[in-house]
Amino acid sequence: MIQIAIDGPGGAGKSTISKAIAAKLGIVYVDTGALYRTVGYYVRSKDVDPHDRDGVGALLDEIGIEVKYVDGSQRVFLNGEDLGDKIRTPEMSMYASAVSAIPSVRAFLLETQKDIARKNSVIMDGRDIGTVILPNADVKIYLTASAECRAKRRYDELIAKGQTVTYEDVLREMNERDEADSSREIAPAQAAQDAVVFDNTGMSLEESVAAIIRLIEEKTAGDDDSDENDPPKEENASGKKKAKKEPRTDSRLYRVIYALFSGIVGRFLFRIRVVGRQNEPATGGYLVCGNHTSATDAVVICYGFRKHQVRLMAKKELFKIPVLAPLIRMLGAFPVDRSGNNVSAIKTAVKLLEEGKCMGMFPQGTRHPATDPRTTPVKNGAALIATRAHADVVPVFIMRKNHTFKLFRRTYLVIGEPIPFESFGYDPDANGEYARITNIIFDRICALGEEFAKEQEAKKAAKKK
Ligand code: C5P
Repeated sequence: MIQIAIDGPGGAGKSTISKAIAAKLGIVYVDTGALYRTVGYYVRSKDVDPHDRDGVGALLDEIGIEVKYVDGSQRVFLNGEDLGDKIRTPEMSMYASAVSAIPSVRAFLLETQKDIARKNSVIMDGRDIGTVILPNADVKIYLTASAECRAKRRYDELIAKGQTVTYEDVLREMNERDEADSSREIAPAQAAQDAVVFDNTGMSLEESVAAIIRLIEEKTAGDDDSDENDPPKEENASGKKKAKKEPRTDSRLYRVIYALFSGIVGRFLFRIRVVGRQNEPATGGYLVCGNHTSATDAVVICYGFRKHQVRLMAKKELFKIPVLAPLIRMLGAFPVDRSGNNVSAIKTAVKLLEEGKCMGMFPQGTRHPATDPRTTPVKNGAALIATRAHADVVPVFIMRKNHTFKLFRRTYLVIGEPIPFESFGYDPDANGEYARITNIIFDRICALGEEFAKEQEAKKAAKKK
């Protein structure tokens, strides 16, 4: 089974491209916009204001939606009637957009969408597929193009269907709909953190399809394509996929470098003191997550963990710097593209953890001001990796003492107690799980810093007395 999520604004070519890909791969294409259009159609037929939450909510009980596949193409039935192209007018686009901002409508359509994906290999397009409907999709693409290019495509499409529209009206309506879809409170249209953003402005349909198929092949290459008929994977008592946990997973080179330099570099140059060393797990397969204030944080983490090599996820720009690049590669770091395309970094991370190796990352993805880690937003990558690999998370806090000379500052690495994967209570079907788990991890990191700062203060105060 494969799940491909295609999100993006109207007119980006989602449905045409997805249909072509579905036909090529022999999987089911699910147009989720049609479901919202169908609800919009019913609301219009009852003369109810599509922005009226209560009015629309009251109608939902009267709506029976069925999705059927006839000769490979999707048909949506409203109370038994096949609506065909009646839902494809600009008016229905606006109705769909208005009703889609109502939570009860989204809840009403949620199960229908999830259910199709449970039963079939799918390529599903919409606005919240990668973020809400298929958060664990194998491939997530956010397809977009300039507003003018999208409006021109939509205009040509409507003219070809014999509708009377002007380009200016189509562009204006498209901009209004984009704005409403991306600014609404619930499931706003946005790229999932692990989606590849693909801009196809000026590309033909064939070019877009070919490029996206290449992307899907790249992302799924080497994937385990087993299905329900295969023998089940070995699982341990907690249902967790059994990772090969070797006592040590370091590369030899790493061990040599570590032995040669850790003492001198760590202790005397970086002046690192490790607090909570007893919390370092004995077996591998865990994810280290820390706050980030300095470029040398990576060295601090590598130095602090003695039992296992911690392979760090590092911004891809570092891998272009001449002397640094081979060095960090040798130390096991791997690149992440912070501008959006981080699918391969996530795959690498999950694979390392499943092999029982350890990896580390800074969930904020960027440095925060030394005064307060909470001033910089946190991304959901760490939660995504931990849940995919069923990995325990080891929180760490890095704190530097003030010193007139930067070089002589004392650095503390506080290692916290591991957070067992099971304690997250991860529910793959629930909404907002990544954000919830991210908060647990980040709160723990910040709490380590706060507790340690208090201890330091108390020690200082005791000394003064
Ligand atoms: O994709 P399409 O243009 O048919 O979608 C119509 C409207 O339905 C969109 O403007 C959007 O407001 C809503 N929609 C949504 N979530 C989806 C699919 C569509 O909110 N997954």
